[in-house]
Amino acid sequence: MSKRGLRDLPPAALDGKRAVVRVDFNVPLKNGDVADDARIRASVPTINYLRERGARVVLLSHLGRPAGGPDPKYSLRQVLRPLERLLGAPVEFMTDLAAGPSITRRLPRGGVALLENTRFWPGEERNDPALAQSFAALGDFYVNDAFGSAHRAHASTEAVAHLLRPAVAGLLLQTELRYLGEALANPERPFVSVLGGAKISGKIDVIQSLLPRVDEILIGGAMACTFFAARGWEVGTSLVERDRIEMAKGLLVTGGKKLVLPRGAVVAPSLDRAAECREVPSDQIPAGWAVFDIDGATQQDFRARIVAARTVVWNGPMGVFEKPPFDAGTRAVAEALADAKKKGAVVVVGGGDSAAAVAGHEDQFSHVSTGGGASLEFLEGKTLPGVAALEDA
Ligand code: ADP
Ligand code: MG
Repeated sequence: MSKRGLRDLPPAALDGKRAVVRVDFNVPLKNGDVADDARIRASVPTINYLRERGARVVLLSHLGRPAGGPDPKYSLRQVLRPLERLLGAPVEFMTDLAAGPSITRRLPRGGVALLENTRFWPGEERNDPALAQSFAALGDFYVNDAFGSAHRAHASTEAVAHLLRPAVAGLLLQTELRYLGEALANPERPFVSVLGGAKISGKIDVIQSLLPRVDEILIGGAMACTFFAARGWEVGTSLVERDRIEMAKGLLVTGGKKLVLPRGAVVAPSLDRAAECREVPSDQIPAGWAVFDIDGATQQDFRARIVAARTVVWNGPMGVFEKPPFDAGTRAVAEALADAKKKGAVVVVGGGDSAAAVAGHEDQFSHVSTGGGASLEFLEGKTLPGVAALEDA
């Protein structure tokens, strides 16, 4: 499972060589501006590690979901300036893949080039070997630092890794694998997992795979409502996955006391009528009302369990945290996690929206994963193709 890392390469393997580096620049955009540059910042250590050792750096990334061809809305040109600012160096932008090899050969030692969105080439998502060959022709060896894309077998994450050697894990990818891997393989106990968010379907496998390993799973978010329904309680107009109720029933049986549901909820007639919100016990949700957060009693209950833990993995917000006052439960959980960390626990935050909920406070946790879907699949125990394709240590 352990993969060869960038730090394992001798200086001669780097100096003057062209590194094809798969990064995750799939950043949120607003009117053509990068709304949050966390993912770009997260790639800087690997880029600078290479540059400082005389390598020439060729960056590959996807951005958004262009529909099978070039689309200015998803052009990586939009991350060029923010990237140059973070690196304090110019970055050569390449749109023509055929001309790429001659451009990258002209790069100076420590120079950086960025290829246009890999998904502008239709073979990317098909893991097309011919496209991978074109990516491979851009450099001499391969570094994958895109944890957020490692669960997809795409030409720039999987096929290319077989064509360029060495093929190693970048610094960020190694950190992700270390924290997520160690939390699962050898957790200090009590090991508590906090799961929330909107979709149980994506997370039900995680519950199943975590149950035998954890001491407790605390359930919040809309996901809790599916479990309320499984108990036979009224759930009003809450977001419930009807087709997962049977599954939830099964989990309540296998999970037993390990599965901790919210004691109560913050309900409102609708998101727009937040002013009318009130707290009710979980089995007394009024018909016509919906659950938008965990209640204060649950905050306290979850808090006590979290601060007593030695290992905590959190994925998914406790409520509609984008819309106060329904952010209170998520904030309380984030604070409890930070306090657990202060007491020496290993605290890992995964998931796109959970990471967004703690943005700017990353230093209060052991690790905030940059990969939403990838961290979930990793927790499920699945093999990530982008990781599997790299050389073993
Ligand atoms: P993550 O990206 O962290 O894995 P998800 O994508 O599964 O999390 O879910 C995040 C979304 O869940 C947020 O947009 C949040 O508003 C929503 N959510 C949380 N609780 C509820 C709820 N009770 N009702 C409706 N939506 C909810
Ligand atoms: Mg999400």
